[in-house]
Amino acid sequence: MKKHNFNAGPCILPDVALENTAKAVVDLDGTGLSVLTISHRSKEFDAIIEETKALWRELLNIPENYHILFLGGGASLQFCMVPYNLLQKKAAYLDTGTWASKAIKEAKLFGEVEVVASSSDKNYSYIPKGFNIPTDADYFHITTNNTIYGTEIKEDIDCPVTLVADMSSDIMSRPVDIKKYGLIYGGAQKNVGPAGVTFVIIREDILGKVERQIPTMLNYKTHIDKGSMFNTPPCGAIYTMRETLKWLKGIGGVEKINELNKKKAELLYNAIDNSKMFVGTAEKDSRSIMNVCFVMKPDYKEKEAEFLEFAKNAGMVGIKGHRSVGGFRASIYNALPIESVQALVDCMKEFEKQNA
Ligand SMILES: *Cc1c(COP(=O)(O)O)cnc(C)c1O
Repeated sequence: MKKHNFNAGPCILPDVALENTAKAVVDLDGTGLSVLTISHRSKEFDAIIEETKALWRELLNIPENYHILFLGGGASLQFCMVPYNLLQKKAAYLDTGTWASKAIKEAKLFGEVEVVASSSDKNYSYIPKGFNIPTDADYFHITTNNTIYGTEIKEDIDCPVTLVADMSSDIMSRPVDIKKYGLIYGGAQKNVGPAGVTFVIIREDILGKVERQIPTMLNYKTHIDKGSMFNTPPCGAIYTMRETLKWLKGIGGVEKINELNKKKAELLYNAIDNSKMFVGTAEKDSRSIMNVCFVMKPDYKEKEAEFLEFAKNAGMVGIKGHRSVGGFRASIYNALPIESVQALVDCMKEFEKQNA
């Protein structure tokens, strides 16, 4: 049976990216070597990493004064690399969920942290508004898409200090005005590739302002100077990322995918809003177009496990909500076809018909 992959991450990737990776793992473009066994210093791999960077630059319209890095350690290592490299006295953070809280925890190891606003009072079901960003902060950190709670900051905010964003789960889902940011980072495994590679888009002039010593591997300068080749990069993951970005370019880029993403989200949110059994957990104006979180209404609470089983039998994968929210979460990333969203909607309607 065809599976509909709603996993939150690692998540669905375009079929063509997987097929091309499978070929390259066996034989990279007729070289007689695998993408997993060629040297990262070879001209073949050099061409792969350069093309991947060029695709990033083209798709997100990244200006020349920004560097694009491919690192290890996941977004989680960026939680510490960001303050290590940028926090001299004080940093400001917006607390919109689990990942934001983890970033805040790391930053506190390096200096004063001002949490300008938090939505923890309502289990992170909304994006706070009307907060003040202190102008004496070294930077302001946001999490644009809260993967666990299904909320999203969908605009590029104006910020009086250097803006740093964790875009792990909505990168490449919409056009981004890169100029408004000093640094953008994320794990690739939500929208741009497999786990194992972390992207960092960085404007170099934000560096060099802290006085502390920074270990070589944790210093952005190291990776900028060596073009992400200070140590062995995750070659296979970068290859699949390139294929994923080629697919995205081929279908029309981030503007086009944003239209499709909005259609998919609208289809699912409409079904939830018109349902007798299901209800969304995020406030409407904060809703994510990547992760759709919903639960059973109180009258049907005891049916949750039954629906999960019903959905599983209909080919749905990965719709169990994160344990901190409960209920259901459908991650509808770039590569998920609208047909899968329709299949989930049909499944919800059928279950409702049988049970409500
Ligand atoms: C998944 C996720 C992370 C953690 O990413 P890792 O690559 O596993 O470290 C951080 N932030 C957000 C928003 C995420 O969705």
